[in-house]
Amino acid sequence: MQKIRLGIVGVGKIVRDQHLPSIAGNGDFELVATASRHGTVDGIPAYQTIEAMLEAHPELDAVSLCMPPQFRYLAAHAALEAGKHVFLEKPPGATISEVEDLKRMAAAKGVSLFASWHSRYAAAVEQAKQFLKASPVRSMKVTWKEDVRHWHPGQAWIWEPGGQGVFDPGINALSILTHITPAPLHLTSAELEFPENRAAPIAATLAFGSANGLEVAAEFDWRQTGKQSWDIEADTEAGHMRLADGGAKLFIDGTLTFEAPDREYPALYARFAEIIKAGVSDADIAPLIQVADAFMLGRRKIVDAFHD
Ligand code: NAP
Repeated sequence: MQKIRLGIVGVGKIVRDQHLPSIAGNGDFELVATASRHGTVDGIPAYQTIEAMLEAHPELDAVSLCMPPQFRYLAAHAALEAGKHVFLEKPPGATISEVEDLKRMAAAKGVSLFASWHSRYAAAVEQAKQFLKASPVRSMKVTWKEDVRHWHPGQAWIWEPGGQGVFDPGINALSILTHITPAPLHLTSAELEFPENRAAPIAATLAFGSANGLEVAAEFDWRQTGKQSWDIEADTEAGHMRLADGGAKLFIDGTLTFEAPDREYPALYARFAEIIKAGVSDADIAPLIQVADAFMLGRRKIVDAFHD
């Protein structure tokens, strides 16, 4: 079968770290062109805008949109209008209405839209989901604390409206949480801490409930130095579950029961090829809805200014 001819838009950190090696390792895809104001990929024709790339390469079947979320909708719109399948980096957009519009457009054009949530493909996530399905859950706790200076040096967009601040990593936790919890969750309270000089939160404390009485507490913090924490814990009738290291390891009652090498981005591209071949979309926005709810329901607290 002919390869899926792919264009990448927004050549930055995640493209270099993950997309390029994952595409190179997947026989279904062939990287044909890139569009980015500054970034290029050795040996691949490069354009400054998606419009120029689409015009020069009408043979493209699909595009991966890897720029910051505030700039994704117009590019996605252009790609769908041209009849291309679209891979959206997470979060899939800056607002819910944008992504809903893209879903509608993809359906009308008969192409596949993929809202990728890489953390859902972390090694132990499916094992955690199975464990929670089999054992009634009493309560859960999310602890997502990392050092923004280490992980996001110089990324101005992340502090701007639509950049989501601490929810840029926090939405990864929410993508796992909304995937593994047996019952749908709704936000019941939120406190968002905004540095006095920034438009996006540096920390957030959330609480969720569910119709069957499950309570979930979540803490996101970007001021964590030293040990970093990306954990989801659950107290269940079958014991204490800890999904650790961003979903890579599963501990039950303190014992490591599952871990495997990281395959998140290779799995995303395998899934993208699968939905293209099946002629369907995969665009769940549950994690984005939780973040939107946090901004809608959250109490705002002003904290110390943040300087890079
Ligand atoms: P990044 O390096 O700051 O941005 C990616 C590229 O987007 C930039 O290098 C820039 O390339 C392009 N871009 C287009 N319009 C832009 C604008 N107006 N302002 C700034 N850049 C613009 O960010 P990233 O870390 O790769 O993240 C991109 C997306 O991937 C985000 O949604 C993020 O949440 C997601 N993601 C990141 C990671 C990670 O570890 N970094 C992990 C998973 C997912 P040009 O200057 O060449 O146009």
